[in-house]
Amino acid sequence: MRKYVMMGVQGSGKGTQSAMLCRDLNLVHIGVGDILRWHVQQHTKLGAQIRRIMAGGELVSDDLVESVIRRRLADHDWNYGFVIDGFPRNGRQAEFFLESYDIDGVIHLDLPDSEVRRRVLNRRLCTRCGMDYNIIDDRPEVEGQCDVCGGQLTTRPDDTPEALAARLREYHDKTRPVLELFRRKEYVLNVDAQPDPQTVQGVIRARFGLPPYRPEPEMPVPSGA
Ligand code: AMP
Repeated sequence: MRKYVMMGVQGSGKGTQSAMLCRDLNLVHIGVGDILRWHVQQHTKLGAQIRRIMAGGELVSDDLVESVIRRRLADHDWNYGFVIDGFPRNGRQAEFFLESYDIDGVIHLDLPDSEVRRRVLNRRLCTRCGMDYNIIDDRPEVEGQCDVCGGQLTTRPDDTPEALAARLREYHDKTRPVLELFRRKEYVLNVDAQPDPQTVQGVIRARFGLPPYRPEPEMPVPSGA
């Protein structure tokens, strides 16, 4: 059983790296932001409570996030372990987590704020499958449309300059100290998040002694297509 925490500033690739780590290792990816966004998109009661907070780039209350995590982990669909991304984000959440679950490692994706701004302000998200794109480095083949599922691409409501400034502030004030706490417990693997995703994944796997990442083979194009 392997349990990892993926940490890093907005746009550092937490979701991408978590998904790559989970794919062939049978780990479950628990993206807290994704779960919260799902509630907003589905107009649940919880979604109505958090929509404005999220759009402004502020952190949702600890009680609420802890109950989301508790409920998600209570599903026990993670026989081989999990990668949790976007949690913990402050001291109280870290305490809750360390009291409730043992962890094998914390991956810290390190990215300078200037690169964060460039990535986040050019990010587009598929409304259907959640795949993300960058309109500078990783453009979809057809503008505004997801290459994978054909869904419509949108900008996340919190990917604005104002909300990003608030999220960066939250990160430096509240989340960085959590990293220091984990670092004292010698859990933290620091990874430069600037190279391409496969290189970053390679570093993570090598440092944890995990099997190398193998990208999925391209689907063969049927002849005559
Ligand atoms: P993310 O997708 O990780 O960038 O998260 C998007 C937003 O969800 C954040 O800006 C917060 O509003 C909320 N959020 C995600 N994780 C947490 C958390 N652990 N604690 C509080 N708020 C969170």
